Amino acid sequence: MTPEHIKCLIIGSGPAGYTAAIYAARAGMNPVLYQGAQPGGQLTITTEVDNFPGYPDGVQGPQMMQDLEAQARRFGTDIRYGMVTGVEFTEQPAHDRPHRVMVDDKIEITADAVLISTGASAKWLGLPSEMRLNGRGVSACAVCDGFFFRGQDVAIVGAGDTAAEEASYLANLCRKVYMLVRRDEMRASKFMQHRVKTAPNIEILFNTETLEVLGDDEVSGVLVKNSVTDEQRTLDVTGFFVAIGHKPNTDIFGNYLDRDENGYILTEKGSTRTNIPGVFACGDAQDNIYRQAVTAAGTGCMAALDAERYLVTLEVQNQELVL
Ligand code: NDP
Repeated sequence: MTPEHIKCLIIGSGPAGYTAAIYAARAGMNPVLYQGAQPGGQLTITTEVDNFPGYPDGVQGPQMMQDLEAQARRFGTDIRYGMVTGVEFTEQPAHDRPHRVMVDDKIEITADAVLISTGASAKWLGLPSEMRLNGRGVSACAVCDGFFFRGQDVAIVGAGDTAAEEASYLANLCRKVYMLVRRDEMRASKFMQHRVKTAPNIEILFNTETLEVLGDDEVSGVLVKNSVTDEQRTLDVTGFFVAIGHKPNTDIFGNYLDRDENGYILTEKGSTRTNIPGVFACGDAQDNIYRQAVTAAGTGCMAALDAERYLVTLEVQNQELVL
């Protein structure tokens, strides 16, 4: 059976994917968007979003994603449930040599342009209490949720640049920030270490392991253990931030696309073009620095504009061949 052919395929349904869809649909590219395992992406597990421009009173993360989806549908995006499980990208694509994509391990489709917006997933400690209180004081994004803990005491686990940066961000808002570092040293850059070590309201607890996040409906404390002395103590905090890294959802592209050592897709400077013509990457799948909904949306727009130009070139090439 001949596989379905799609002009513009968008993989992923976070702010990057839906924004790409809005632009692609309005440009007449007939985009088809596969939503992936978590329709709406990371924002569907956040509560209030206060920093996305255009919502003066803030918006709930899931609501914002429904709004973005509705906007993408309004212009005719074909939005489908389904997970892209495999790809076969062509190094020299042409009309008769499109990229191939497998959905849910069983549906094969071909596409002229593929826009990757598969996002990244925050890493978690894996404690049951951490999962239970997620969104109720447990968060993996200080910039998104720190504001709700103004004047309160919070803890953040992690010792890399993200944890140090987020601890500094929280220190500007909160009364006290405990930084929980599992070893006797931090991985963060010297500059970031200096920043957290000299902040008057950040207390760094080295050799410290989190045993449990406490609280019934909301976080009311954290039980930690010193791994050298085995001493346990409870920190009276109302917020618990996890900053132990993110993993971009890019494994299925690994055989074709250039990625950095952490798996983020590499794009040409100032564009969303990858090393394969016709394949574009946007959002957190290619951004390990900003990781905000608004920056993801911005690169989603870029990907659609880049793809539009690419499709025009492909069309011209095809016409020249026919002539
Ligand atoms: P990293 O992988 O660099 O750091 C993760 C940290 O989490 C490590 O300190 C690690 O501890 C700790 N950790 C991992 N698992 C656990 C666990 N189960 N319990 C407790 N602690 C744990 O991730 P980042 O997100 O910090 O940074 C990712 C990349 O992005 C880095 O290259 C970083 O430099 C870069 N970045 C750059 C920024 C900038 O330039 N402004 C800002 C933010 C990030 P351990 O050290 O013991 O392994």
